[in-house]
Amino acid sequence: MIKQFVPQEFCLKCQGCCRFKEANSVWSPCLLDEEVQGLLDRTDLPAASISIDRRIQPVVNPHGAEFICPFLNSLDNKCAIYAGRPFECQLYPFLINLRNDKVLLTVDLNCPYVYENINSQEAKDYIAYLCDFLNSPQQLKILKDNPQIIQAYEEVREVAELRLPHEIK
Ligand code: SF4
Repeated sequence: MIKQFVPQEFCLKCQGCCRFKEANSVWSPCLLDEEVQGLLDRTDLPAASISIDRRIQPVVNPHGAEFICPFLNSLDNKCAIYAGRPFECQLYPFLINLRNDKVLLTVDLNCPYVYENINSQEAKDYIAYLCDFLNSPQQLKILKDNPQIIQAYEEVREVAELRLPHEIK
């Protein structure tokens, strides 16, 4: 599990994450290959579809106007698979991004906690932790084996360049 930057109590009060404007949103979580199989093997979860490009398909929010992740309970803001949620969900509001042939660690400033705290010492320490974590041999292998999660997100802020193997760029 990736250590979290945003405190859980802040996340539970925010109505931002796990909600999407469109059913085919680029922001819906993209899964590692092993996560796809892990979800398909479980029979105790709400019905969910995974797209051909390995994204969890958002569903219509039964309690609102937008689309939500099928694992989100939009009434209490809790995730049905929180303890085993996908890598991208653990990483968010940080994202791995491909830009100008570089693999970057970026952050989504739409997260209000990040927006307020991105210049803090706490954020600098956390980014250093994330870079160490993502540049570890084990994580590099996971990223190399799952190039689908290195995407070209727009409107995110670059915070560091990652040392990823050239062949996945
Ligand atoms: S899997 Fe959980 S954390 Fe990830 S988008 Fe869905 S509800 Fe949110």
